[in-house]
Amino acid sequence: MAELKVVVAGAGGRMGAANIRAVAAQSGLTLHGAVAGSASLKLHAAVDRPGTEAIGQDAGLFAGIGALGVAITDDMEAALAGADIVIDFTAPQASVALAARVADLGLVHIIGTTGCSEADDAAIARAAQDGARIVKSGNFSMGMVVLANLVEKAAAALADYDIEILEMHHSRKVDAPSGTALLLGEAAAKGREISLKAHSVRVRDGHTGPREAGSIGFATLRGGTVVGDHSVILAGPGERIELGHRAEDRSIFANGAARAALWAANQTPGLYSMVDVLGLND
Ligand code: NAD
Repeated sequence: MAELKVVVAGAGGRMGAANIRAVAAQSGLTLHGAVAGSASLKLHAAVDRPGTEAIGQDAGLFAGIGALGVAITDDMEAALAGADIVIDFTAPQASVALAARVADLGLVHIIGTTGCSEADDAAIARAAQDGARIVKSGNFSMGMVVLANLVEKAAAALADYDIEILEMHHSRKVDAPSGTALLLGEAAAKGREISLKAHSVRVRDGHTGPREAGSIGFATLRGGTVVGDHSVILAGPGERIELGHRAEDRSIFANGAARAALWAANQTPGLYSMVDVLGLND
């Protein structure tokens, strides 16, 4: 069985620890009934920023499992040497820089980082054209892929209902709306065959006037330790439909990222999503 060498970037973060646990735990995942190229993942390196508390600690001990013999480093180049895959839940600037380097080296890049600007996304798409195999998603959980599909269908079927997307996350989250809320907004816009950018209302404050017909609204809540709650509300005359998802544990994202890594290892360079990983494109 081929052993694919994984670098966890952002190893000192909340998702970094979950990704270390997921990589350490899995040994060949089943994709649609077949073992993915009979490959398994092995933690090759764990990286974070210089000065981060996690630097120098054993990645396994840091993530709350047994020692893995891999010390968390701040030397990205050393970490990338000999690696096959980077699982990256960091920050937009870091992910953009890493994508360019991954393209040079022809590696797989699993990007969970949210809050990317249009320019960041364009740079990541260029890296995919330049030789990187990238899977990027605002939410790597299986349930969210299904929810996005339902939202697309509901938005199309209830074409004149108002769509509002509500999300809540822990108090330390730095971007808003969440990547998942935007992913759900894109799904709704796709169902309506409109551009999300042209129709989204991301903030309301003061005398806003009546709701603009056909817009897709976002509302953001922050507090406590909430891993991620999302609701899509379709409000029509005399009724409301709510489609929702509650993330209870970060392992749902880390397991999805590990699954995407195994899948991407068998793909040609390009930019992919979880819809591609799960074969739901048809
Ligand atoms: P966090 O702040 O706990 O962790 C981020 C880590 O990245 C930190 O340890 C930070 O030091 C590190 N980092 C930043 N720049 C770096 C660099 N240049 N090199 C190496 N490490 C660097 O945040 P988190 O809660 O773990 O979330 C990380 C990202 O993942 C956020 O953008 C978040 O929204 C996103 N996220 C995505 C999903 C998904 O399924 N796509 C799920 C959860 C969180």
